[in-house]
Amino acid sequence: MELDGIRAGEDDPTFLSMCPFAPTMLLRDDIMLRDDGDYTYGDDHADLRIEMANYGLSTGYPIDSFVDIRCACGSDGFEFHSDEEAGVAVRRCGSCRHERFMADSAGFAEEAKLTSHVCICGSSHFQLTAGVHRYRRDDDSLAEEVRWTYIGCRCASCGLVGCYADWKCEHGNYETLLRLM
Ligand SMILES: [Zn+2]
Ligand SMILES: [Zn+2]
Repeated sequence: MELDGIRAGEDDPTFLSMCPFAPTMLLRDDIMLRDDGDYTYGDDHADLRIEMANYGLSTGYPIDSFVDIRCACGSDGFEFHSDEEAGVAVRRCGSCRHERFMADSAGFAEEAKLTSHVCICGSSHFQLTAGVHRYRRDDDSLAEEVRWTYIGCRCASCGLVGCYADWKCEHGNYETLLRLM
């Protein structure tokens, strides 16, 4: 796999894994998320990826590459704030309180009206996974360039998983963008 060699940047140990799931792999019927009416629940980042992948397929921009997000302090629990229209997302670590603009969103921060996300259970503590859809080359292979960005949340309290924000993001190289998550 072309992504196997990717490691976290020396200045940012956020990235534990990047895994290029092909969309078809995500629809294996031996993987079962709990589907409770309108809501889907999962146990971990892997379940969140499946939910995000299904969402990506429904938009027509399937997610090609993911990253599960972990703070430099080691925690993977965050508060999450976003403004899709402005293309801005902010995560705040629940442990060390470090706050960070995700992807290239710092450049659009001034125009953003951030929404603080709260789960239907009342918790605002989430695990986060980011994903990107990449452009296709003429031969239908994956290009390096990002076309669409997704950020999904799994509630640390009740396990609800969902894609909480997605927007058109033509930042350039997908590896670079995922490292900025
Ligand atoms: Zn932290
Ligand atoms: Zn919840």
